[in-house]
This record gives sequence, C-alpha cells and structure tokens, in this order.
Amino acid sequence: MGDPLDRSATWPYESGKPGRFSYARADHPTGVACEEALGALDGGHALLYPSGMGAVTTVVLTLLRAGGTIAVAEGAYYGHRVLFDHLAPWELHVVEFDQTGPPPDQADLILVEAPANPLLTMPDLATAVAHPAPVVCDATVATPLRHRPLDEGCDVVLHSATKILAGHDDVLAGVTVTRDQGLRDRLHLTRRLAGIVASADTAWLVHRGLGTLALRLDRQEATARLVAERLADHPAVATVRYPGFSYLLSFDVADGVTAGRVERSVRVIENATSLGGIRSKLEARHRWEGDRIPTGLLRLSVGLEEPDELWADLDAALAAV
Ligand code: PLP
Repeated sequence: MGDPLDRSATWPYESGKPGRFSYARADHPTGVACEEALGALDGGHALLYPSGMGAVTTVVLTLLRAGGTIAVAEGAYYGHRVLFDHLAPWELHVVEFDQTGPPPDQADLILVEAPANPLLTMPDLATAVAHPAPVVCDATVATPLRHRPLDEGCDVVLHSATKILAGHDDVLAGVTVTRDQGLRDRLHLTRRLAGIVASADTAWLVHRGLGTLALRLDRQEATARLVAERLADHPAVATVRYPGFSYLLSFDVADGVTAGRVERSVRVIENATSLGGIRSKLEARHRWEGDRIPTGLLRLSVGLEEPDELWADLDAALAAV
C-alpha cells in the first residue's frame, strides 16, 4: 500500500477548536509526511513549496529587508539571478561572487550552490559560514545523500525537488530545511501567509520519489562519471566540468553553432531543459543564460539509460559536428 493521499483543503474542528490540520494553506497530512522524510535526509526541519523558486522566494521574503543585499554564487542557477533582478523595485540589491572564496562584506544574505548549475563549482562553506550573514545553500544537484550543508553550519538548505528528489519530470516542487526551529517557524509563517504551499498531490509525488532516490542517484552518478571520463578524451570537447559526484555535468564544444548541432542530433538523450529525471537531457545553456557562460556550453543531466547506449548517442551527435 502506498502512503495515503489526502486532498482535503479543510478539516472539521475538534470540539470547536482547530486540530492539527484545519486548513491546508497551513499544513496538510500528505505534506507533513513528505516533510518528515525530507527533514530526516538533511538533518533538520523541512518545508515543502510548489517549486524551487517558491522556496527561494519564501527565503528572501523572510530573511531580507528592503534595501538588503543578496550575494549569489557566480555560475549558479540562472533563474535565481533573474528573480532577484526582477525584485529590484523592492530595493533588493544583487552581487555575484566566486563561491570558492569569501562572500562580499556587504552581503545581508548569501546564496551558494553545491555544486553550481551549470558551472559545477563547489562552495567554500567554511569561509561562507564565517560571514555574519545567513547562508543558504542550494544543494539541488548534490542531494542530501551526497552533501548535507546544515552539518557544515549553513542556516538553510534549499532544493528544487522537481529534479532528482521527485525524479520523474512530472512534478514541480521545492524544499527548505533548517535546523533552527525559530527560523523554520518564520519560513512557515511566510509560506502560510503568502500561500506558497505545495498541494497534497505534489507532496505525494515527491515522497514517492524519495523511495528510489538512492538507487537512481547511484546509477545516474555511475553513468555520469563514465560519460565525463569519455568526454574528457573526445577531440570535439574542449572542457568538461564534473565535480566527481552526482548526475550533472557540462562540457564545451567549439562554439554556439556547434553546440546547437550537437543538441539537435541526440536521439536517446532528450533535447530539453531541466535535470535529475530518469531520462537524460542535454541543452545548450547559452539560449537562456547569454554571455555569463561560454557559448559552446552544453549541460547534460544523466538519467537511467544503459551507459553504452547513452554514450553511443552522444558520440554520434559529437561526430555530426
Ligand atoms: N535550483 C536549481 C539548482 C535549479 O536547477 C532550479 C531549476 O532548474 C531551481 C533551483 C528552481 O527550481 P524549480 O524549477 O523547481 O522552481
């Protein structure tokens, strides 16, 4: 039997008083069951959101004031930077910094990424947490099975659960995990008041994904390692970025035109955005990120296909250039 799915938006009062669950914008049982499983993985109190962007929005609304400065890792998830620029009318200031070194002094909130998508650098967490500002670590790509930033002193760990946590490209979801109960309660209040709440269906799908997370990650990671090694020896490939763990890598071909040809030539791998699903995905990131990344950069999220079949597809696509 699977975990129960309770889609109720409201529950009867108990003897005239709200019980543990009364209105789903605060909490619902399917969400709480999923949060307990997520919290155990990262070692803290998890909260679920309708997307990774919903999670980061809740963090910013809770931890920053108007006029505040957020320091964001260079070469990390582009959507964060776009959101923060969009919030400029709220007097949010954004600075990018090299996360392998110290964050800028003026930061009021620090957002690092382990590892950065798509440049795959790892943050220097010991240096980041020495800064007085709260440190948020987006560990979407690492997953709690490979990296637990709360153990290293980060205040909040963030995941886009849309990726490998749920794992099947059929749900959008986000997570925060904190060790500090007071901070968890503040995030929960923002989430409840702003209504940035994941549905029971979303929670159920994420929870189901967690049951196979370790198996999927082991397999996707083993294949990613193999592909990274083979790409490093390929004459059409100039640079390979792979941190040595997890399922995401990026590599550079000669230029943007070549990258376009490669992505349109794959057949087993999908030419699509996103990462962490059971089907491999390849895309030229320049279409989204412009000149902050090399024009020939291709991002590959490795799925569950047979490693040799996947490599043959990529090799043939690279030969087509
Ligand atoms: N963080 C990382 C590292 C991501 O790659 C993404 C999306 O690609 C997000 C956050 C945003 O997550 P979502 O698309 O679930 O809103």
